[in-house]
Amino acid sequence: MVRAGSPPPSSFQETVQLFEQIADELNLQDDVRLLLRSPYRELRVEVPVRMDDGSLRVFPGYRVQHNGARGPYKGGIRYHPQADLDEVRTLAALMTWKCALVDLPFGGAKGGVQCDPSAMSEGELNRLTRRYTQNIAHIIGVNRDIPAPDMGTNAQIMAWMMDAFGQLQGHTPGIVTGKPIALGGSFGREAATGRGASILLRLLCKELGHEPAATSVAVQGYGNVGSWAARLSAEAGFHVVAVSNSRGGTYNGSGLDISAIDRHVQGGGRLGDFAGGDRISNDELLALPCDVLIPAAIGDTVTDVNCASVRASLIIEAANHPLSAAADAALTERGAVILPDILANAGGVTVSYFEWTQNIQQFRWDEERVNTELEHVLTQAYHAVRALAGEQQITMRRAAHRIAVARVAEAVRLRGFV
Ligand code: NAD
Repeated sequence: MVRAGSPPPSSFQETVQLFEQIADELNLQDDVRLLLRSPYRELRVEVPVRMDDGSLRVFPGYRVQHNGARGPYKGGIRYHPQADLDEVRTLAALMTWKCALVDLPFGGAKGGVQCDPSAMSEGELNRLTRRYTQNIAHIIGVNRDIPAPDMGTNAQIMAWMMDAFGQLQGHTPGIVTGKPIALGGSFGREAATGRGASILLRLLCKELGHEPAATSVAVQGYGNVGSWAARLSAEAGFHVVAVSNSRGGTYNGSGLDISAIDRHVQGGGRLGDFAGGDRISNDELLALPCDVLIPAAIGDTVTDVNCASVRASLIIEAANHPLSAAADAALTERGAVILPDILANAGGVTVSYFEWTQNIQQFRWDEERVNTELEHVLTQAYHAVRALAGEQQITMRRAAHRIAVARVAEAVRLRGFV
């Protein structure tokens, strides 16, 4: 319970609180609970970078390995000014549960460097990435821990990571996923997280009887995940009425032309200046009278402070931890249906798994195979979550976490960790 005047719980505290609740519901044995409550390893490194102006800056970097009972640690690397240990811990734990929920043979990890990539040159980012990779190289590996892109990182940064690791260990394409196609990346990986969110949106709307053509969607965060979620949802017939990024967004109640937005953004235009819509702020996007909200930006964008303004009845958590626990409770109480992050954005790690598999086999799948297998994995996980939620009369978040925690607990016991 939060006492008046005390600071709100950190996102990691919220993750642990949810875990404790699930552990109670599963009657988890004390030893297993003790082991799963906190991360296995937390590495903090200093990442010194010679900047273009000749000055030296030192950025804090992290890699947290939460649990590896089901397989090598897996999780993205975030470059963001607010990346800190609490955030990386939270995201590492979510990766453990996400990989278990979609039944991938991976544990969970996450990395981050506290920096502002938008204010750094390509050369500075290249040097930062190489130094960070060298600093964490002793705990990563194809069968140990496999990083991937997350906010502020992309295929180019994965290519630099692979190269820096290769200088130490020899050519090892499977050390990272989300690489460029030319360096062993998988077809379909770039779009995978947004594609997954749009597949799940389709499944949920079909089950709830919402026709795509009569369903309006607002997407917060028009980066990798949000732009693909918007593009593929529009292709599936949904009315994408609003999109935004950190500088604001655009709204058109009749539906936005996503291809025209892409051309506008690629030409250097701001979303707010897009001629096919009206400029809106991020607060206004949250409050739009639309059916579906897809938060696809940073964490905790919907909190107890602003959740009362949210009018969407379906929320697809394409971002990680976009709703604080208080916002989640308030929106659930109000009747909103929330598809939780560990399912909604699991498309990315699923295709990362396909990429790792292809790298190990030195064999390439075509894009159709990747997308078909992705749809299969997510559809199975979706039905498992819906079935448990219906059977136990619980939210999809609790159902998803129950499935995931039970699988990890079983692996912990079978390995003899406890
Ligand atoms: P990205 O850096 O490509 O894009 C993030 C976007 O969010 C940018 O457009 C940025 O301007 C915008 N943004 C930042 N703060 C905002 C705010 N307060 N309001 C509105 N927009 C804001 O990052 P991404 O890879 O698309 O990741 C987005 C989210 O999805 C993150 O939470 C990430 O952890 C999660 N995720 C990503 C992947 C992946 O494969 N990239 C996989 C799973 C989950």
